[in-house]
Amino acid sequence: MNSSSSYHLPCDLTSALNLLSEHSDSAKIVAGGQSIMLLLRQGFLSSDIFIDISDISELSEISIQGGAIHVGAATTYTSLENSLEIQPYSVLLDSLHVIADPQIRNLGTIGGALGHADPSLDIVPPLLCLDANVVVQSLNATRAIPLSDFHQEYMTADLSKDELIHSITFNQPTGIHGGAYEKVANVEGGWPTVGVAAQVKLGENIDSFLDVKIALAAVGDTAIRSYSVEKSLIGSEISMDSIRESSKLVCNDIDPLDDLSGSAGYKTHLAGVLCQRALVKAINRAGGSL
Ligand SMILES: Cc1cc2nc3c(=O)[nH]c(=O)nc-3n(C[C@H](O)[C@H](O)[C@H](O)COP(=O)(O)OP(=O)(O)OC[C@H]3O[C@@H](n4cnc5c(N)ncnc54)[C@H](O)[C@@H]3O)c2cc1C
Repeated sequence: MNSSSSYHLPCDLTSALNLLSEHSDSAKIVAGGQSIMLLLRQGFLSSDIFIDISDISELSEISIQGGAIHVGAATTYTSLENSLEIQPYSVLLDSLHVIADPQIRNLGTIGGALGHADPSLDIVPPLLCLDANVVVQSLNATRAIPLSDFHQEYMTADLSKDELIHSITFNQPTGIHGGAYEKVANVEGGWPTVGVAAQVKLGENIDSFLDVKIALAAVGDTAIRSYSVEKSLIGSEISMDSIRESSKLVCNDIDPLDDLSGSAGYKTHLAGVLCQRALVKAINRAGGSL
């Protein structure tokens, strides 16, 4: 922030939306401040008006409505991790346990993550596997956008200047199901070199796949679903061989870059290995044994 910046801490949603509408060209939302403050300090971002939404209680609520869970955008990772409503979602819980360190989880929020839109965020692949929707709101309108459409380009969210993320919603998986998130990072609590989420729905004899969802972090411009792996497993019998062979297909869907966390070749190999591990854990959690 510079000396001419102004900082606002509205305590209700309407005030925040009014401020956003009034200053839409120059305002930035602040939630936990974990990413935006770094960007400001490093000179990648500048803004005159900051609207801090962390005091708006409506945006920190977690509720179940008609079988769907609604998580307010300003809910911190720690609140989400500790909430009773979220305990059945093992794919999401796994990711919440491994995001950075407790200090960042105490302040960082789910809406801040989706607004930041970094392709390496741990929480996005699990939410893609749960078919999450993002509810965004302006003074005059509310939209629900599938998360798969919300991040279509690198570090870009489908948000107008007068909109904020209100909440994230997803349905409870039905039938015999299990989920898991697997991550490898170069340092304890670090950003993922690669992260893979798997969510499975099994047949009643727990020997076949009725549905499979695979999504990955840190292997492209956005988090990526691996439709090749999904297609090759749906309808097939569960076996270590089929999981091993299908997991290799993940390379068809990803586009990792060489960077300080590893070469593209290493990340491609890692994606296959983590895909296999996440699938095995998800199946075991659904009651299967592998
Ligand atoms: C040292 C460090 C290590 C980290 N390691 C990891 C890691 O291992 N894994 C991982 O997944 N993440 C990691 N993170 C990132 C962390 O997950 C994000 O910083 C955090 O989720 C962002 O949330 P926030 O509430 O702090 O967002 P803020 O920093 O407040 O905001 C981020 C962006 O989202 C926008 N925004 C915030 N809320 C809304 C809203 N409701 N509506 C519209 N736009 C909004 C802001 O304007 C800004 O552009 C790390 C961060 C740090 C600083």
